[in-house]
Amino acid sequence: MTALPPGSTIGILGGGQLGRMLSLAAAQLGLKSHIYSDVPGGACDVAAASTIGPFEDTDRIRAFAEAVDVVTYEFENVPLAAAAAAEAVAPVRPGPRALAVAQDRLEEKTFISALGIAVAPFAAVDGPGSLNAAINAVGETGILKTRRLGYDGKGQVRIRSAAELAPAFDTLKQAPCVLEGFVSFAYEVSVLVVRGLSGEIRFYDLPLNTHKNGILDTSTVPSPLSGPHAARACEMAASIATALDYVGVLSVEMFYLGPDAAEPLMVNEIAPRVHNSGHWTMDACLVGQFENHIRAVAGWPLGPTERHSDVTMTNLIGADVDQWQAIAAEPGAALHLYGKAEARPGRKMGHVNRLRPRT
Ligand code: AMP
Repeated sequence: MTALPPGSTIGILGGGQLGRMLSLAAAQLGLKSHIYSDVPGGACDVAAASTIGPFEDTDRIRAFAEAVDVVTYEFENVPLAAAAAAEAVAPVRPGPRALAVAQDRLEEKTFISALGIAVAPFAAVDGPGSLNAAINAVGETGILKTRRLGYDGKGQVRIRSAAELAPAFDTLKQAPCVLEGFVSFAYEVSVLVVRGLSGEIRFYDLPLNTHKNGILDTSTVPSPLSGPHAARACEMAASIATALDYVGVLSVEMFYLGPDAAEPLMVNEIAPRVHNSGHWTMDACLVGQFENHIRAVAGWPLGPTERHSDVTMTNLIGADVDQWQAIAAEPGAALHLYGKAEARPGRKMGHVNRLRPRT
């Protein structure tokens, strides 16, 4: 098991802000990055090389993989055929199995619950004929979610009675779905776990996550979750990472239902990549999630994940970014902007990490 030496090239499928921050972290270690993206700009602006093409073009993906030493990705909807084309010529880390599981909510929940980890009650909705069975299995209050391609609350409809399910299924164009029982949680946390090529596992502290309009708004560390429940959350994330023989940063979003719940922690979803709720690690830890992902996929020793400061990460969505000058002047604040030209509503333009002395 040899580490890629400095000067090697990391291939990154996807050219958004996560790819951009991965590329910057790689550069800090003397590694080059080559971005494969369907649009120019973004990560391509800070990488040594880029290929612009559709993710469906497996010939071009193969040529890209031939030009790099390892392939990773920054979004979970990389087509499996693209990952397979890359894997034929270069190591793909994390492996395509993680992609397959994370791309399909039904497969994801089935896989996670088979590990003995609690998830919200769920049932497949494949067609109008399965609506009644789903209500019987899950109950009348829930969320209907498309199995594929949902993100930031998109592809989801809240159900408050059995009668609302059929219209909700129509709203989602009768795409294959899962009905999930509505979980009345106390709060949401995520586990950011990094697993190295040798199988070594390290965790970051758990952030408390809040959302606005279905999009992550803030991640704050420390979260109120500590002691045995925090340890259990880490154990759950580690068992998922190990079962996937995962290499890199894996994020596991969880609901905390309170100390008296039969199942205090439930996994909502996993993302086989660096995650927005881990952006605080860039400034509050010696080695942040982006560098640790690069270290893992390059076969390097993992870096320390300890936190030296308390921190709140706040996303800058749409017009929030207009405050850049005031934020740049704030003491204790680290500003990160993604270089996107147009601040459309709901678009992630950057984030700010506000640090405080560690309590
Ligand atoms: P997701 O796209 O699955 O991450 O869902 C986006 C957000 O919707 C989550 O972060 C939760 O705040 C909320 N949510 C998702 N699923 C459920 C559920 N089963 N019960 C209650 N809230 C949920």
